[in-house]
Amino acid sequence: MAIPGHIDPVPVPRAFVARQDGRVDLLGLTKADLRMALETAQLEPKQAKLRAKQIFSWIYNRGVTEFALMTDIAKDMRGWLEQRFVVSRPEVVEAQVSNDGTRKWLLRSDDGQDYEMVFIPDADRGTLCVSSQVGCTLNCRFCYTGTMRLVRNLTPGEIVGQVMLARDALGEWPSQPEGRMLTNIVMMGMGEPLYNFDNVRDALKLVMDGDGLALSKRRITLSTSGVVPLMARAGEEIGVNLAVSLHAVTKEVRDEIVPLNRKYGLEELLQACADYPGANNARRITFEYVMLKNKNDSDDDARELVRLLKKYQLPAKVNLIPFNPWPGADYECSDPERIARFSDIVFKGGISAPVRTPRGRDIMAACGQLKSASEKKSRAELDRLAAEKQAALG
Ligand code: SAH
Ligand code: SF4
Repeated sequence: MAIPGHIDPVPVPRAFVARQDGRVDLLGLTKADLRMALETAQLEPKQAKLRAKQIFSWIYNRGVTEFALMTDIAKDMRGWLEQRFVVSRPEVVEAQVSNDGTRKWLLRSDDGQDYEMVFIPDADRGTLCVSSQVGCTLNCRFCYTGTMRLVRNLTPGEIVGQVMLARDALGEWPSQPEGRMLTNIVMMGMGEPLYNFDNVRDALKLVMDGDGLALSKRRITLSTSGVVPLMARAGEEIGVNLAVSLHAVTKEVRDEIVPLNRKYGLEELLQACADYPGANNARRITFEYVMLKNKNDSDDDARELVRLLKKYQLPAKVNLIPFNPWPGADYECSDPERIARFSDIVFKGGISAPVRTPRGRDIMAACGQLKSASEKKSRAELDRLAAEKQAALG
């Protein structure tokens, strides 16, 4: 399959889609688009450039959502902005806290789509697990999200909006380099991030921008189930850490549990990993491996895993994920002794293979347990929700 080259020479003006109240949402616009939005509203170019810089910093460095608070902008200009623009946040439908401190938020978009984000606090870090799609087009057999059909891609604003909302909830404004609770981001929520490439890239660029949220690319990990043709572009254009949902070492088993394997096979996937720009011994690729009883958890599987990773000379670490159950799943989690033995074999093969501690299982926030009710809503219900929203906005 030909890999389309990326062409991005000049910023092209684009139609800024106004919300139902006629105002344009600035959240999620690239720096260039933010400036363009101001120009489109007839601000002269020099002004637009200056204001865009100020507004960008207020939005992403200070977490401000109201123009009235942007005190280095003249008062009548603030009023002018207020009439034409908003800085939104995703709507929170439900916020839950697990008995291990993990927090899960159910969020709702303007058109009534639900998606989830999860915050996992640890002693030395705090990780936000971000969704890229409502649902998923792939249907890995062990994943609850995979039982949903794809409802739609999330926009850059909805993706970066998750980070903004988490910062709001943790009270972490202004953005500071030291002492944050939210230190890491993983694109491991609902959806396959590489099937929403442009929006994920634009959102992560905003997250990494030094004038705003300023999170280092070394603290961001993108997980893919193996969309081979887009992996090189991910390395070049986004440049964050890569995690690959490997989960099996034979064609037969991977075809069954990760059906995308029928399109992009194991060897092709491992070659793409070997070619991933920026991977080296200091920045290893994480291979995720869900532990399914009597399916992929034998000693032979562990040895084959080591052989494959060595064959491709991959700077690798393996993350063993105990299977998290959900209603109607076909699989069971491997026994703890089996997981320990598997880990040991991989470790003795010279590759680190820690077992991931399940977090937030009691609130269905653990890996592979995210699923929203979005798909169950009829068109009529979605229309009704949109109408309600419009009425609320007056
Ligand atoms: N779609 C992307 C990222 C989201 S899933 C991907 O597949 O990589 C994050 C990780 O959780 C993936 O490795 C996924 O395979 C794994 N996972 C899915 N369902 C799981 C379950 N029920 N138990 C444990 N891990 C699961
Ligand atoms: Fe989609 Fe990832 Fe779940 Fe597979 S594991 S169905 S790619 S979200």
